[in-house]
Amino acid sequence: MSSETLREVVLASGNAGKLREFSAILQQAGIRMIAQNELGVTEADEPHATFVENAIAKARHASLHTGRPALADDSGLCVPALGGAPGVYSARYASLNGGEKSDLANNLRLVSQLSNLEDHSAFYIAVLVFMNGPEDPCPLVAEGRWHGRIVATPQGENGFGYDPHFWLPEYGCTVAELDPAEKNRVSHRGRALAQLLDQLRGIGTPS
Ligand code: IMP
Repeated sequence: MSSETLREVVLASGNAGKLREFSAILQQAGIRMIAQNELGVTEADEPHATFVENAIAKARHASLHTGRPALADDSGLCVPALGGAPGVYSARYASLNGGEKSDLANNLRLVSQLSNLEDHSAFYIAVLVFMNGPEDPCPLVAEGRWHGRIVATPQGENGFGYDPHFWLPEYGCTVAELDPAEKNRVSHRGRALAQLLDQLRGIGTPS
């Protein structure tokens, strides 16, 4: 597809890695992604208790400030034995407790919270929201989950966040030991993106 026929959609994130990953997949639905920071849009607040509400808030904000369709994602780690925590606070789990806002501090808090519990099962979740405009009453919503369990000893150098502690029984390694291309294919974000692509193809590209 030539670049003139691609429709432009704003990505409600300034993360270069996400822009690359989302662009590669959504090009198949005739979409060219532009990061919101390239259009002067600042990060939206994420005040809500659920991933889907935060993703809607981010997509609406990006669409409102650019006048274009927008795509947002919100993701995190949920541990059922901890009532779903860290959940929407995944990026700043340790700082809720007065600690640093860093992956290392978050991981230390997670491992300590689980140390006296038996059930260490966990899942990553990613929610994607696509809005044609800020008032779109029917946003497309796609969700991907990736199940595993939390191990106390970190292993591997790839990825980010909780990846060195997120054990995948089907691979016999942590996410941080997985090949990055394989992670993109099977992760929570990869699954949500594949689902969104199906939905976009089902309705045709936005007009
Ligand atoms: P965001 O939605 O991409 O900002 O992610 C929120 C937080 O969830 C990140 O800062 C991480 O702590 C966690 N998270 C989300 N996806 C992943 C992942 O693929 N690996 C590790 N941590 C993740």
